[in-house]
Amino acid sequence: MENLWQQCQKTLSCEQLENNIDTDVAIVGAGFTGLSTALHLAKLGVNVTVVEAQEVGYGASGRNVGLTNAGLWIMPSETERLLGSQQGRELNQLLIDAPKYVHQLIQEQQLDCDLMTNGTLHLAHSKSALSYLKDRQAQLTEYGAQIEYLDQQQTFAKSQAEGYHGALMDLNAGTVQPLKYCLALARLAQQQGVKIYQKSGITQIEKKADKFVLNSAKGQIKANKVVLATNAYEQYLNNNNKLFTPLYFCQLASEPLSKEQREHCLPDNNGCWDSGAVMRSFRTDSAGRLIVGTVGNIHTNGAKAFKQWSEHVVKNTFPKIGKLEYSYGWSGCIAKSHNNIPQVLELEKNIVQVVGYSGRGIAGGTVVGRELANYLNGNISQAQLALPVNKAKNISFNQVRAAVYEIGCQLSHISDHLIR
Ligand SMILES: Cc1cc2nc3c(=O)[nH]c(=O)nc-3n(C[C@H](O)[C@H](O)[C@H](O)COP(=O)(O)OP(=O)(O)OC[C@H]3O[C@@H](n4cnc5c(N)ncnc54)[C@H](O)[C@@H]3O)c2cc1C
Repeated sequence: MENLWQQCQKTLSCEQLENNIDTDVAIVGAGFTGLSTALHLAKLGVNVTVVEAQEVGYGASGRNVGLTNAGLWIMPSETERLLGSQQGRELNQLLIDAPKYVHQLIQEQQLDCDLMTNGTLHLAHSKSALSYLKDRQAQLTEYGAQIEYLDQQQTFAKSQAEGYHGALMDLNAGTVQPLKYCLALARLAQQQGVKIYQKSGITQIEKKADKFVLNSAKGQIKANKVVLATNAYEQYLNNNNKLFTPLYFCQLASEPLSKEQREHCLPDNNGCWDSGAVMRSFRTDSAGRLIVGTVGNIHTNGAKAFKQWSEHVVKNTFPKIGKLEYSYGWSGCIAKSHNNIPQVLELEKNIVQVVGYSGRGIAGGTVVGRELANYLNGNISQAQLALPVNKAKNISFNQVRAAVYEIGCQLSHISDHLIR
């Protein structure tokens, strides 16, 4: 089964790196982080080259759910506890304001990415989750987020989803077709003068005199500064693979629903996720397909079990829409950092890496790119970056942890047939 997002028209034109190039800043990886850093640097007048091993949006940026969420998974108070009050507050503010920034960028630049700005729903899967959601609402509101608490009836009226006890509606958040957003960022960066090369994996980075030399199979880039924006999809370089636990998230997309089915399934097209320990997501796309998501890797575990699980979930959650045929199914890898906070590493002067969005990197990656651009251009100091720098921790036995998560999720999906 294929990734639905990949079915969009890709009118982006990028060559393969086949010669030797000089640039001020070389960016490795063409996802939200790399492209946003490139765009914002180019706007500051910097000469930038982006180099991508596969195609633009090949990584998590072209595989995710598409929720332009505010903040981190963890509570704002937890971010403050982990980073200290000042940096914690700065990072919370940056990420809570991030959806507004992304929506504004998309609207001002007329980026073609199926943006819906009608709010997202964080659904309470149990009564006990309601107090967590109310606490989250109070904390996010302190930072200026516009979040409404919906009781059970209001939640059902908005979503038509059965089995949920309430929800938070974030009025500043929304959905995008994530790969289209990524491609649109790439086009915008190109319009600002950024050179983007595809199918040109960087296999080695060397320091020669005061320049970095980035080698690919057929070409070479000499740069004064380097950004490694490879996150969970790093190939060849092996710089960051101990810094996150790889967690897979799978999505299945149905055939377009009929008008009648639409009335009984997310009638207002709100993107949703729930508070379950093994999270579920529901959203629609511009063609009116239902896209159901959960933790797990469809590419290794096979589509059959996920389809059966989804049939069960849809029957209980949207009982009036009947059985669905699934045309698309795919998974992507989330880089979960040791504390669920994205990490900046300055490997040495003028070479930085970002890793560990922990499943919150659409709006996050976009504003982190803007911050990095300001840092690399000397507009802000390292101390003024809202993100933690050089505080990332190696995660011991991260592959074992990932395998345990994966098995736990599969068991939870099986038990869903009995208890949820
Ligand atoms: C299934 C899933 C669902 C998610 N849902 C959401 C959501 O709803 N909302 C949200 O905010 N976030 C979500 N996320 C998180 C979000 O998608 C990521 O945090 C974000 O896309 C990370 O972007 P990035 O640019 O840092 O990395 P990526 O998009 O992964 O890009 C890294 C790129 O680097 C390239 N690369 C690697 N090595 C090399 C090399 N040596 N040379 C050249 N190029 C290289 C890769 O090919 C890749 O294209 C989700 C993630 C997943 C996987």
